[in-house]
Amino acid sequence: MPSIADRLKNVSISASAAMTQRARELAAKGIKVVSLSSGEPDFPTPAHAIEAAHAAALRGDTKYPPMDGTPALKAAISRKFRRDNNLDYDASQIVVSGGGKQVIFNAMLATCNPGDEVVIPTPSWVSYADIVKFAGGVPVAVPCFEQAGFKLRPEDLEAAITPRTKWLILNFPNNPTGAACSRAEMAAIAEVMLRHPNVWILTDDIYEHLVYGGFEFCTIADAEPRLYDRVLTMNGVSKAYAMTGWRLGYCASGSKELIAAISNVNGQNSGGTTTVTQAAAIAALDSPQDLLKERAAIYRERRDFVLDQLSKVEGLRCHKPEGAFYIYPNISGLIGKTTKGGRKIETDVDFVMALVEEHHVATVQGAAYGMSPYFRISYATSMEMLGEGCARIAQFCRDMR
Ligand code: PLP
Repeated sequence: MPSIADRLKNVSISASAAMTQRARELAAKGIKVVSLSSGEPDFPTPAHAIEAAHAAALRGDTKYPPMDGTPALKAAISRKFRRDNNLDYDASQIVVSGGGKQVIFNAMLATCNPGDEVVIPTPSWVSYADIVKFAGGVPVAVPCFEQAGFKLRPEDLEAAITPRTKWLILNFPNNPTGAACSRAEMAAIAEVMLRHPNVWILTDDIYEHLVYGGFEFCTIADAEPRLYDRVLTMNGVSKAYAMTGWRLGYCASGSKELIAAISNVNGQNSGGTTTVTQAAAIAALDSPQDLLKERAAIYRERRDFVLDQLSKVEGLRCHKPEGAFYIYPNISGLIGKTTKGGRKIETDVDFVMALVEEHHVATVQGAAYGMSPYFRISYATSMEMLGEGCARIAQFCRDMR
């Protein structure tokens, strides 16, 4: 038989995708599953973005796009960085790709030589480590402990950097913990990075607009302008504008060399991002941004509701996150117990599997994000689903012996 490439040997299937699949199988059998596993806004894409895509298609904007993004979209992205992040990036410093995920993929492929280390504050989004491995690099997890609010402590970062370190990947607000960094906390991380001039910094700001209770988002190139040439600032339209299916992410850097390399990879692995998607993204980025605040207020209400419900459950401990749309409860109080259905809970994998099989609530195990024993709840769903989900989780935990 012909064989599959060795580079895929260590790359896994995303645990959240696997759980979503299991929830679908149960639903197909007629079971009412409460899905709290998917990291996807339940809101619709704004109508003005859809209309812009439609208009673009009708006027014939359906040919191959420029490989690294249309001039009009790059101009809109440049305005966005100035408006939201106090950062100046011109068109030559920006690349548009098919989602934030592709930006990260391109960046790692463009820069990682075999054995290069990539420091990943953990818990972390499942794809970082897999993408790094795919590119031949070595992911290095730095724990961000619950006791420290799941934030990256400068001393832990310092200890993780070696002569082989190529990148630090930042993601605050974070998937899966929801932790976000204040300007002062970001400045403390930046101070460490100033001492390591051979390390690039990728900041994944995809949850930038999802911060609550007056918390102010700050990205590292703004916190420390001396890092401008080494930072790759990444963002996208998926989470902010509920445009996950449109597939558009972008990045910018003070390093034109890095941008040229990323653009080169982008040109080879895609012929550029879909033209109508680019038109939709311009409308999303350039229109009045009130919708972001309106939606953030709804997410905040949901966060507070879930925290309130779950904090009453014996055996769960919930840290209050500043942003994103996830809660990451600690389940150490339930380890060693047995569920009503007779399943022994030794790990967070046992916990989420028993929860979906016995009470039909889909969540994701902390092990998938590199820190146990926790599980991730996504509250990017309706209050009705959240109410039902929390009630089922509470019953599941109460029934354990
Ligand atoms: N970065 C983080 C931290 C995410 O959680 C996700 C999606 O879940 C992405 C990037 C992917 O974003 P996109 O849809 O733009 O590829």
